[in-house]
Amino acid sequence: MNLKQMIINLKNIIFDKLFPNNIKCILCGRDLNTENSICDYCMKEDIFNTGSRCIFCDAKIKDGNKICDHCKEKTKTIASRKRYFSKCFCPLNYKDKVRIAILKLKSDGAKYLAPHFAKLIYQRLQEEKLNFDIIVPVPSHPKTIRKRGYNPAEILAIELGKLYNKPVENILIKNVLTPNQKFLDYNERQENLKDSITIQNNSILTNKTILLVDDVITTCATINTCASLMKKAKKIYACSIARNQLN
Ligand SMILES: [Zn+2]
Ligand SMILES: [Zn+2]
Repeated sequence: MNLKQMIINLKNIIFDKLFPNNIKCILCGRDLNTENSICDYCMKEDIFNTGSRCIFCDAKIKDGNKICDHCKEKTKTIASRKRYFSKCFCPLNYKDKVRIAILKLKSDGAKYLAPHFAKLIYQRLQEEKLNFDIIVPVPSHPKTIRKRGYNPAEILAIELGKLYNKPVENILIKNVLTPNQKFLDYNERQENLKDSITIQNNSILTNKTILLVDDVITTCATINTCASLMKKAKKIYACSIARNQLN
């Protein structure tokens, strides 16, 4: 553990003591008087991923449509375009204060946010009555983990594991540090990720339904790459805290 990480950890310990769970809104910091992690003011804002959404990737779409243009394209029989997961679930919209809070979890050592975000995912999955056997986090490269002190997807997966009492299996490994994907489209991302992730212990997935966990879903390229490796699984669902709407 480096000095920066020690300071971040210490800050989190102090923060947790001063502001234990469910006292401050995780999005705006206002005092809370509810059991939720989000205050009444923020609840009224456009933070939830609701309305017409693609039945596969949970992206917002025009009313009356069922599938987004991107997933429509993927249902064609081109192997590289195949969708390897059944459906994904993202309770929040990745923008404004939600985006800021997720960036805190991802890059600012705000690990204390993970149980709150996991609970929001849990609530969404409960609404969908989702059943699964094993939870698998999307991997981070060891260098990124060293820098951040943890893999955000993994700590979310661990929290979901506690809520569901299901095993968390860290079987995906990120071997290559891929360049930032922010400015790449789906195909470029897929190409970028190709061969950067591998799987170990595939056999534990035999006939199991998997819940793949990431922090944010943007184009589904990462979760699709991960899902394509889990060949022995019966079914793969994916989830994340928020959906980054592309258009
Ligand atoms: Zn708030
Ligand atoms: Zn879609």
